[in-house]
Amino acid sequence: MADRNQKLADLGEDALVKKLVKDLKTRSDVAVAAGDDCAVIRRGKRGHYLLLKTDCVIEGVHYAADTPPSGVGYKALARAISDIAAMAGQPQHALITLILPAERSVSYARAIYRGLSRAAKKHDIAIVGGETACPAKGGNALISVTLTGSVTTNHCCLRSGGRPGDVLFVTGKLGGSLKGHHLRFEPRVTQAAWLARNSKPRAMMDLSDGLASDLPRLALASDCGYRIDVQALPCRRGHSITQALHDGEDYELLLAVPARNVAALTRNWNKRFPALPLSKIGELTKPGINEPLLAGGWQHF
Ligand SMILES: [Mg+2]
Repeated sequence: MADRNQKLADLGEDALVKKLVKDLKTRSDVAVAAGDDCAVIRRGKRGHYLLLKTDCVIEGVHYAADTPPSGVGYKALARAISDIAAMAGQPQHALITLILPAERSVSYARAIYRGLSRAAKKHDIAIVGGETACPAKGGNALISVTLTGSVTTNHCCLRSGGRPGDVLFVTGKLGGSLKGHHLRFEPRVTQAAWLARNSKPRAMMDLSDGLASDLPRLALASDCGYRIDVQALPCRRGHSITQALHDGEDYELLLAVPARNVAALTRNWNKRFPALPLSKIGELTKPGINEPLLAGGWQHF
């Protein structure tokens, strides 16, 4: 089908991105370009990679118009922090683009910045600039965040390193995020850095679109299949397996750990993070196995 007649909604996000980035020019210092949670650049401190992330939240899509603005600001930055965490990195510097209708109050805009600052302070991030603008009449408010991070080269976790037999884990609980978790979640920066040092995950990502979308992405990037026990999913209290799979916005970590590291991981995790569950949900397999066949989760188009 010619591109001219094909709608974005027919294609879906992953296929669209693939089309868009296919012919982009690269550079010799790019270690990982589009396709992972962050871009990975061979720059910065010796023995470290520079991580780059951009992300946005749109009113009416990622938050309701009546959401408290400080929660919106917190969420906007915390989402990007979660992607830096997914690489086992530490976030550093942020740029904020704030698009608000001209009739919003100044105090609304300042409350958004209070939320951004709260997330920044928790993670030692400097907000070093940005842009403010007004949408066309009737256009939606949105906040776009660009965030840098740093990770030591030997701890950087991609989605693509998993191998058949690696054991799949998720942190925390899944499902029902839109009831409030999505405005106050804690990006798993500390946990991811600990995991990278102590259990050497071969693949890791953060769960933003729901396990049903994100697990097949990790498996595909690693050229593997997967087998999970849906009964083992850590459902948030009062929520079903279906919700844990599809609701999205969990901002937990999904990781694939070599089987030989699993016993030490489960023993040490509970000592280090007693308040946060770490659940074994299945394993990566040879490609072609998808048990159960998962599709869906959050669709962007
Ligand atoms: Mg991500």
